Amino acid sequence: MNLFTFTAEFGDEQACRKHFKEERDKHGVICKKCSNTTHYWKRDKECYECKSCGFRTSLRSGTIMENSNLPFLVWYRAMFLISTTKKGFSAKEMQRQLGLKRYEPVWAMVHKIRKAMGNRDSRYTLEGMIEMDEGYFTVSSTEVEQNKGKRGQKTKYCVSGI
Ligand SMILES: [Zn+2]
Repeated sequence: MNLFTFTAEFGDEQACRKHFKEERDKHGVICKKCSNTTHYWKRDKECYECKSCGFRTSLRSGTIMENSNLPFLVWYRAMFLISTTKKGFSAKEMQRQLGLKRYEPVWAMVHKIRKAMGNRDSRYTLEGMIEMDEGYFTVSSTEVEQNKGKRGQKTKYCVSGI
């Protein structure tokens, strides 16, 4: 995926939210209140509702975007930039590229994305990203398999097709 195909695919907030929900659905949602895993999707409120207790889970809750007010579009752009530059982006440069006024939220986001990319075992971090990558950032699945057995080693984040 290059800048042009990325922009075509993830051109607005809605496209990013839609993709993020699809990725999240593959992993499943666990109710924080009763641990039930079946949910309704409340389209109007953009949140999940537990079929057992009615507790609502926002699309961001339980993901790396939890506690962030930055739009999904900004997150996707940051993930794209970080993955294509092989983590070579400073938070300051990211802030400049994204045209954002405040540094702190950008720093927190970059930190979380880097952590997600470097931590393959934790739920919703790299595995979620890899799944995104397989479809959109084109990470080779053989390398993902190989890296699964190499925990602790510095993992190489492969982005092909650029
Ligand atoms: Zn529940």
